[in-house]
Amino acid sequence: MKKILMLSTGGTIASTDSGHGLTPTESGAAMAAMIPELQGLCEISCYEVMSIDSSNMQPEGWTTLAQAIKEHSDGFDGVVITHGTDTMAYTASALSFMLKNLPFPVVLTGSQLPISAPDTDAKRNILHAFLTALDDRLCGVYIVFDYDVIKGIHAEKTRSTTFHAFESINAPLVGTYVDNVLQINEAMIPEKPTEPLQVQLDLCNDVFLLKITPGFEPARLKALGDLGYKAIIIEGFGIGGIPNEGRDLVPAVKALTDKGILTIITTQCTYEGADLDIYSVGVSAAEAGAIAAGPMTSETILAKLMCITAKTDDFHSIRDRFRKDVIGEWKVYGTAD
Ligand code: ASP
Repeated sequence: MKKILMLSTGGTIASTDSGHGLTPTESGAAMAAMIPELQGLCEISCYEVMSIDSSNMQPEGWTTLAQAIKEHSDGFDGVVITHGTDTMAYTASALSFMLKNLPFPVVLTGSQLPISAPDTDAKRNILHAFLTALDDRLCGVYIVFDYDVIKGIHAEKTRSTTFHAFESINAPLVGTYVDNVLQINEAMIPEKPTEPLQVQLDLCNDVFLLKITPGFEPARLKALGDLGYKAIIIEGFGIGGIPNEGRDLVPAVKALTDKGILTIITTQCTYEGADLDIYSVGVSAAEAGAIAAGPMTSETILAKLMCITAKTDDFHSIRDRFRKDVIGEWKVYGTAD
């Protein structure tokens, strides 16, 4: 019988009302026992890695998860991680870069309603997560939620209360469950790695994510350069524009570049990514040293930069590594995919 490692971390899925708001109390084993379809499906080993609201998830928590997966990587066919939904996309992106050449699926799931609530989405999400973790066609990190399977680096939480909480951004779904059978998108079946699993446990926190607004003062962007950041991600307007007149941000970007701090520009739009070559407001930013993040989500940019800056302080090396595709994060999907 196949074996699944179930790592529980808390979140709404495991929560009950503490009288001070929802708080995680249920263990992974208790949740698995509530789902009759899991009995006899596979052998399950449960570890409670932490029991937190995912707003409290920190990079150290990602390291703990990566370490647990590394330690058990020989004995299991797949991993299911139950997790709060609020920062699940960050965790999925971080694990995607921390666990290179993953030969099996690592599947994150959670729910909008606690597992003990009537009409909860937790049970079907956990069942679908297990079915995905057992699927021989898949490897790498995924989020499974509300019938959908999403590649980890493309997932974003787009709804705060209703069941369809996650979407696949700038990439097709890997598949969708219909009657508990995965209708897989053949184009999203990954190649199996030929190299052994490589786990990066160290991360660097010196990455800042800034959403600019009309009226944002350039001096404040420049001041970030004195706070020890190695890279600054700017969520610009539309396809990635930042002001190049009035409260002109371009000299501040240039000052960051001159200091050896990389500026990455992405978009405030949910879909279709950033490109600095289209408008003058993008070209000026690129001339000042900024680079566009293409189709990547902010979560993915942040996770990738936290992995890169843990390994190097050098501006050119950070920039070159960021530009290199590691796990398909630069891939632009056509409508036919
Ligand atoms: N606040 C919860 C968490 O992220 C929300 C959820 O799990 O849906 O832990």
